[in-house]
Amino acid sequence: MDCLFCKIASKEIPSDIVYENDEAIAFRDLNPQAPTHVLVIPKKHVDSISKTGEGDNLQALMAAAVEVAKLEGLEHTGFRLVINDGQHGGQTVFHLHVHVLGGRVMTWPPG
Ligand code: 5GP
Ligand code: ZN
Repeated sequence: MDCLFCKIASKEIPSDIVYENDEAIAFRDLNPQAPTHVLVIPKKHVDSISKTGEGDNLQALMAAAVEVAKLEGLEHTGFRLVINDGQHGGQTVFHLHVHVLGGRVMTWPPG
């Protein structure tokens, strides 16, 4: 399968990795939308959050995202986790990822 984020997870394509464990890997977004913008992905390919099933450890993925936020020093100021799904959700890369955004005040509602 020709998947950009699988290639980043396997380190075939280089990225700025900030965290890794058995289940997940986290790297800086190429086009950051905040002072901290990290993508956390499961190492095992799944297209999107809506395509996940019993074999996908979403607990581990979200725990990794929170760990990244803490490592980035966002624990006290707060941060935002975003998962885009499908066309209306604004998903552009079809390997599930959690955006960890922080370092500035976020607005609501999102665009
Ligand atoms: P989505 O729009 O699917 O929720 O988010 C995809 C994200 O992946 C975007 O924020 C985009 O900037 C980021 N991205 C796309 N290609 C690359 C890449 O090759 N390397 C990295 N580090 N980020 C990428
Ligand atoms: Zn993939």
